[in-house]
Amino acid sequence: MSAPENAAQAGTPAPTGAPPEKKPPAPSAVGDLLKGSDIQVGGKYIGWSVREDIRKAGGSGGLVTAVLAGALEKGLVEHVLALKKSSQYEAVSVLTSDVEDVYASVGSMHMLVSNPGKHLRQFQNDASIALVVKPCDMRGIREQQKRNVIDPDRIFTIGLNCGGTMMPYKMRRVTEEVYGVDPNDVRAEEIEKGKLILETADGQHHAQSIEVLEEDNNGRRENCRYCIVKIATNSDLACGNWGVMPDYSGKATFVEVMTEKGAEFLRNAIDGGYAEAKMASEPAEEARSKVNGVMLKMSAKTKEQIIVPLHSQTFEAFKKELVNCINCGACKTVCPPCACGTEAKCTAFDDPADGYDISLFHMVRFLHLMDSCVSCGQCTDVCPADIPLANLYRKFADPLQEELNYVTGMDDRTPPFFEIKLEEMN
Ligand SMILES: Cc1cc2nc3c(=O)[nH]c(=O)nc-3n(C[C@H](O)[C@H](O)[C@H](O)COP(=O)(O)OP(=O)(O)OC[C@H]3O[C@@H](n4cnc5c(N)ncnc54)[C@H](O)[C@@H]3O)c2cc1C
Ligand code: SF4
Ligand code: SF4
Ligand code: SF4
Repeated sequence: MSAPENAAQAGTPAPTGAPPEKKPPAPSAVGDLLKGSDIQVGGKYIGWSVREDIRKAGGSGGLVTAVLAGALEKGLVEHVLALKKSSQYEAVSVLTSDVEDVYASVGSMHMLVSNPGKHLRQFQNDASIALVVKPCDMRGIREQQKRNVIDPDRIFTIGLNCGGTMMPYKMRRVTEEVYGVDPNDVRAEEIEKGKLILETADGQHHAQSIEVLEEDNNGRRENCRYCIVKIATNSDLACGNWGVMPDYSGKATFVEVMTEKGAEFLRNAIDGGYAEAKMASEPAEEARSKVNGVMLKMSAKTKEQIIVPLHSQTFEAFKKELVNCINCGACKTVCPPCACGTEAKCTAFDDPADGYDISLFHMVRFLHLMDSCVSCGQCTDVCPADIPLANLYRKFADPLQEELNYVTGMDDRTPPFFEIKLEEMN
């Protein structure tokens, strides 16, 4: 199974060797450029940065960077939570009010798993912040908002469509062993036509099929392969390259305006001279929703193959999975919807004397996160004992979330556990 980021050209072979030229759209082809006042909530557009260097470096035309830069310079937000890259595999989140940091963060990093929703907790009550999120990040933020630990009025979110992310340390090894390339020589990467393409310092492109990589467990993280939200319609602006038609492929981003705040920020970018946009055509909208549908079907199929339902598992099986836990707490620290802080039920009930394999820490967390786990996989990523935690959490969360048709972080519904009344339990 592969992750086709570029719907318009899915099916054609990916390029290798010399890189294709990423030309900015020719002005003559642009036609009906929009004014800020044309932008409306619910509107679907394609847009790009007015700066050629940003269009070239951008994941798909640099619109996201243009909106962030405009928001910062025109004072719509005080800070941007941006990625500071140290390589094509690694970056850290930094809170900045310097627009040059925003421009330097341009581009898509598929081999990086950031956790912006968790970092936001440290700063968000002191300042207004714009940030870029994957759908799972935004789902975690929405669940935190419901638990009153993040103030929705102080943040502005640009959601990226997401076909999946890959672990940096693993992809460094894959680069060396499968691509035959020194990871330190990789200068850029992109996903096109189901292939992960690495560009090295000498300008050469090296492509591998994601489907083939995943056959050897070398591709996307396991939870991404069964992720059920691929378009971040829970953010202020939902951006991605699905629906960008061939003329604009790689040069523009499809953006759906989800909120009034999203409309205001996009208008600001257009009127401030940071971005240009035009209406998305009907075929473009159809193409976007068609690829999304295909991806969701693939996720459902993968989930059936990967997740063994709770009712067919024994307690012994769980003990076996958890036996190597060293009780470090990292899985709780990184969990985006976890809002309890240090005074938590899971740690309060935990007694190391129980032995880690039956620790109540895990049992309380499995139950407590039934109504809030967003399936982001961060817990699995950080576990030093390699315990497949996200997979274990799904076994508990799926029955409840599916029964109540509650897709965590996708709307403002009260979390199911908040609705249980004590008299109902008697
Ligand atoms: C991991 C990933 C998977 C994607 N999968 C799809 C897909 O399947 N289908 C689709 O239509 N679009 C997908 N996109 C979105 C697409 O690649 C472009 O990012 C989007 O069209 C915006 O392009 P742009 O040129 O306007 O963004 P840019 O102007 O290049 O800005 C991109 C912003 O995203 C930030 N960013 C980069 N990598 C990450 C990351 N890993 N986590 C958080 N923030 C990051 C950058 O720092 C920058 O602020 C994906 C993006 C990412 C990062
Ligand atoms: S779980 Fe994976 S595929 Fe889903 S939004 Fe998060 S990073 Fe993307
Ligand atoms: S339990 Fe794991 S997969 Fe679920 S939300 Fe927390 S970190 Fe993400
Ligand atoms: S991260 Fe892993 S080792 Fe650490 S407490 Fe969680 S399950 Fe145990």
